[in-house]
Amino acid sequence: MHNSISDPETATEYDSCEQREFIGDRGDYFLNRIQGETGVNVSACYQCERCTNACPISGFMDIKPHQIIRYVQLGWRIRLLKSSTIWLCLSCEMCTTYCPNEVDVAEIINHLRMMAARSSITPKEKSLAVFHHTFLEELIKSGRVNEFRLMRAYYSKPDILHAKIKNGTFKQELQLAMTLLRKGRLKLSAPKSKAVKEIQKAYFQTRGEIS
Ligand code: SF4
Ligand code: SF4
Repeated sequence: MHNSISDPETATEYDSCEQREFIGDRGDYFLNRIQGETGVNVSACYQCERCTNACPISGFMDIKPHQIIRYVQLGWRIRLLKSSTIWLCLSCEMCTTYCPNEVDVAEIINHLRMMAARSSITPKEKSLAVFHHTFLEELIKSGRVNEFRLMRAYYSKPDILHAKIKNGTFKQELQLAMTLLRKGRLKLSAPKSKAVKEIQKAYFQTRGEIS
């Protein structure tokens, strides 16, 4: 039997020890964990919805920005990590800017995205999740991201090119790349950043893999 505050969509599927750890037996565990890891005072949110109203793509999100914050307060971890919102978010920070209580909504969503990327949960937006991983791989390799190399690496991931040819976006992106090349706005390569070691260190520290 769950605590009265439980994730209604996942209570059956995830009725496991792991789920109880986050939303039941230990009450605010998930909320405290997120607040501790991000330094964001999620508890300050009073659901005014200004973040959602400011978000340029909230209409496409399955869980709106103000709901993201509410679900964190409630400890609905699985529902959050399974959402499309964490992959669709543009990190534009409009939500954060407009929050009257200085709740950094964009940082919370970014943190949830990283948690989802490290979890075994199948991402709802698979192609965006693959893009996210590819972007980080490229960043770690050279300390900066060259658009041409990024897209080449992305297309080489399983199923991506096939899916893009099928839905017609490959042709559009190829035409865009040709236009950018002609205008000299797309470089085929770029030297490594001089700060590559510092960037790698910051990345692995953020992941908790080194101290
Ligand atoms: S704008 Fe701030 S206080 Fe209002 S709902 Fe969003 S996070 Fe909560
Ligand atoms: S950071 Fe994400 S959630 Fe916030 S306004 Fe931008 S797209 Fe919306």
